[in-house]
Amino acid sequence: MSAQPVQLNDFKRLWADAGDAVVAATQAVGASGWYVLGKEVAAFEQELAAFAHSPFAVGCASGLDAIEIALRAQGIAPGDRVLTTPLSAFATTLAIIRAGAVPVFCDTDESGLLDLEAADAALREVAGIRYIVPVHLFGHALDLERLWRLSDVHDVQIVEDSAQAIGAAWRDKPVGSVSGVSATSFYPTKNLGALGDGGAVFCATEELAQTCRSLRDYGQTAKYEHTLLGLNSRLDELQAAILRQAMLPRLPNWLQRRAEVAERYRRGIANPGVAIASVPEGSQSSWHLFPVRVAADQRTGFMEHLKRHGIGCGIHYPILIPDQPALKGRSFERWGELSRARLLSQEGVSLPIHPYLHEEEVERVVSTVNSWSAR
Ligand SMILES: *Cc1c(COP(=O)(O)O)cnc(C)c1O
Repeated sequence: MSAQPVQLNDFKRLWADAGDAVVAATQAVGASGWYVLGKEVAAFEQELAAFAHSPFAVGCASGLDAIEIALRAQGIAPGDRVLTTPLSAFATTLAIIRAGAVPVFCDTDESGLLDLEAADAALREVAGIRYIVPVHLFGHALDLERLWRLSDVHDVQIVEDSAQAIGAAWRDKPVGSVSGVSATSFYPTKNLGALGDGGAVFCATEELAQTCRSLRDYGQTAKYEHTLLGLNSRLDELQAAILRQAMLPRLPNWLQRRAEVAERYRRGIANPGVAIASVPEGSQSSWHLFPVRVAADQRTGFMEHLKRHGIGCGIHYPILIPDQPALKGRSFERWGELSRARLLSQEGVSLPIHPYLHEEEVERVVSTVNSWSAR
């Protein structure tokens, strides 16, 4: 193979495009002499909130912290049960456990997102569920109207994990808009990535935003006055400036490019051994990932075929969260068998879908997928 490998993410191309803007932002913060929670964080929070159609955004140190802060701002108490999905980044559940709560895992639908039908049943049958943490996985938006009805009928709070879904919407309603507080991440691979770690909490009211600002900063409400037991989870001025000046202005084009690549894959991939994973109805996806499915006993062979032809790929996610060794002996519950989520963890393969893919590379991914034959 003489052609360059097609990578799952290509940070060198990102740097070639955005490097000058990153250096300028860095220069300005360095010269300002103010490095933590200053003007840049405030300015980024405003522009981010406007982009996400949310009244308030509060920057913090990671997506993991953003979920924990969101839950705590909504008043989560030790022992509260939280309905969530077994197929996600481990951080979704880790945040629930760090908040002192008990995760209740519910199966996914065919798309790999929380099955809202099963969630409804779980909420009726399991006592003590006070929160739902749904994940807009792969950048697909869950049905926001049904989520809202679930929260209304069962009197539970929703904290959306939008770490993969910034810019996604369900029937023109932006993700994050059904919960009073929702969370996102700026980990470099995310659709809006920093040059390091970062996250944000979106809040519907000034009061919630104030609680989140306090929680990210040791629970301070005034200088040296601590009302809550908070975290050190502040967003750096440097990352905020990089995000606002170099990354956020590029995000609309990046999202458009991801959607184009997804469309090309959906039209071009035609291999009886490779199923294109379904997308929830009504979802206007941000296409963080593009998963396809192959039979579980063929997955290794398929991934080797891709690798041999220089196509990077990944698995999201190979181990269900309740099966993770770290949860052994911890307090959690399962609602039902989780068999759909388990099948997806055995069959899913993610293809490259970053915004710096060249046209020729997209075609190469399609033809390589189509040239594979299951044995
Ligand atoms: C990345 C991710 C997180 C965690 O974000 P970090 O910034 O890495 O802590 C949480 N949930 C989902 C769905 C993610 O993809």
